[in-house]
Amino acid sequence: MTMNIKMKNTVNNRTALYALYALEAMMMVVHGLFLIFFACTGVRLMLTVNIFSLLVYAVSFLLIKRMYLTVYTAVVFLEVSIHMFLSVLCLGWGYGFQLYFLVCVPVIFYADYFSVKLGHRHVHGFLLSVASGLLYFVTLVYVRYHEPLYSLDNRIEYVMLAVNSLVVIVFSTVFLGALARTATNTEAKLERQATHDMLTGMSNRNYLIEQLGVLFETEHLKDYWLAILDIDDFKAINDVYGHNCGDYVLKSVAKLIQKNSGGMISCRWGGEEFLLVGHEGVTKGGAKTSHEVLERIRRAVEENDFIYEGTKIKLTITIGMASHTDEQTIDEWINIADMKLYSGKNSGKNRLVV
Ligand code: GH3
Ligand code: MG
Ligand code: MG
Repeated sequence: MTMNIKMKNTVNNRTALYALYALEAMMMVVHGLFLIFFACTGVRLMLTVNIFSLLVYAVSFLLIKRMYLTVYTAVVFLEVSIHMFLSVLCLGWGYGFQLYFLVCVPVIFYADYFSVKLGHRHVHGFLLSVASGLLYFVTLVYVRYHEPLYSLDNRIEYVMLAVNSLVVIVFSTVFLGALARTATNTEAKLERQATHDMLTGMSNRNYLIEQLGVLFETEHLKDYWLAILDIDDFKAINDVYGHNCGDYVLKSVAKLIQKNSGGMISCRWGGEEFLLVGHEGVTKGGAKTSHEVLERIRRAVEENDFIYEGTKIKLTITIGMASHTDEQTIDEWINIADMKLYSGKNSGKNRLVV
């Protein structure tokens, strides 16, 4: 069990790490393109800055590798800020370099999220975002009172504005999209873990009780029946063939119940017990009554050959069933089915007691 948890974390960590390396690679590509642009247009100050930027990103690979994520985010933030401020200082507002201050926000929170995911400290995402916003306004005030150091052709300015806007849109889409996807996936996974039994994939006890509560509210559970199905002498399976075999048997019985109950509400009630809820008017697979449905399940288990590592195992189940009566609480209803199950166990097992 402990090993499984470790393995799962390793897989998650690897994905998070690859995401950071992808961010690094994207930053290097963008700065490589800037380098070419500034070299071609003769903006020497920015050419020098870009050479430093590329060096910073090369070193940043090591920071990720060594897991200095707080330092890494601070370094990237500083580089982006200096680079953007100087770009605006050299060329002015019209090239759209200031837009990168805004894209800093999703990227910072992305790095923050992954830092925590990788088991490290928060990277002060909120503080850095506020700093990024402040720098944006400082730059805005600066260009109000200063002319750009370089003056290029209008067409170059227009094309660069388009390119910068595009890069910013792509960055925001990729990082916000990735964050949203991760959040949705995690939520779905947590919801499944909270409502389902991980071994059999069936609903769990809490979820079934919740569903019963809804049926109670909406239909007063009129004409509903409930059955508890318990594997006979299951402890002996564990004792003779081992716990893994017991797990295999539980999964197989769960499948047989689901297959033969045809979509009725079912759950793993706990241990080697399952609970099935049906409606008298709705029976599946040719069965006409609840009695027939449950008998079919009992027989399916009895007749099934459970083959574990080449060994054939036979087993049976005992079922206690109760129809819901007016004014009965859910607890009382379940207790009655449980008592029927108990009486089935005491009268020889492998039977349905109604
Ligand atoms: P009876 O016919 O009276 O129902 O007897 P039984 O042996 O089936 O019932 P008992 O309550 O004595 O034993 C149930 C066993 O189920 C004990 C427990 O170790 C085992 N068990 C509970 N949950 C799991 C599980 O998830 N996997 C495995 N392999 N065994 C489990
Ligand atoms: Mg039991
Ligand atoms: Mg049992």
